[in-house]
Amino acid sequence: MSKESTQFSITPSHIIEYLYCPRFTFFEYVLRVPQFEEKNYKVLKGREMHDEKADQNRAYLRKRIGAVEKQTEVYLTNNLLRGEVDEVLTLQDGTMAPLDYKFAKWEDRLYDTYRTQLVCYAWLIEHNFGRQVTRGYLVYTRSKHYLLEVPIKPEDVEVVKTAAAEIAKIIQKNVFPNATKVRKRCEHCTYRNICPM
Ligand code: SF4
Repeated sequence: MSKESTQFSITPSHIIEYLYCPRFTFFEYVLRVPQFEEKNYKVLKGREMHDEKADQNRAYLRKRIGAVEKQTEVYLTNNLLRGEVDEVLTLQDGTMAPLDYKFAKWEDRLYDTYRTQLVCYAWLIEHNFGRQVTRGYLVYTRSKHYLLEVPIKPEDVEVVKTAAAEIAKIIQKNVFPNATKVRKRCEHCTYRNICPM
């Protein structure tokens, strides 16, 4: 599957932004108003990876997980989404799972951004391999490779699928979406001055 063969496609970052506020999608990808990422962005924590991936081949991690097969840096697409998964694992029970390395510390809480990213990968894996995905894994490289198992339910994948369809509608048909229901997010939003809240 070549990267060039993709026509319209979105990334997990698009999904993360949309779920934070659908209008981000409109301002950034329809009006092309850039974000000022440094200012506010809990929403973009998902982008802080891939800079450094020390010790990715730690076999003991796969052993702990019970993986029987591992594919690395797997680029996957479907009709809407594209993404590169650090590792696609085949588990003993026949299901598959994405594993993603984070150059980050484990802070006793799973960020929604990381979770959404794994769910996006689950959708891509199910679509491309025809196998069920019931969980994903995160490795926090700055906390001695702390391994976190994240359950993934079918309804989680549905949320991402719906978001992807809505994003396509916003970008391809110039639809102005509703504001986030979490109005607190507007207080420090980079689009505050141009958004009719
Ligand atoms: S100001 Fe509020 S509604 Fe408008 S883009 Fe920002 S978060 Fe969304």
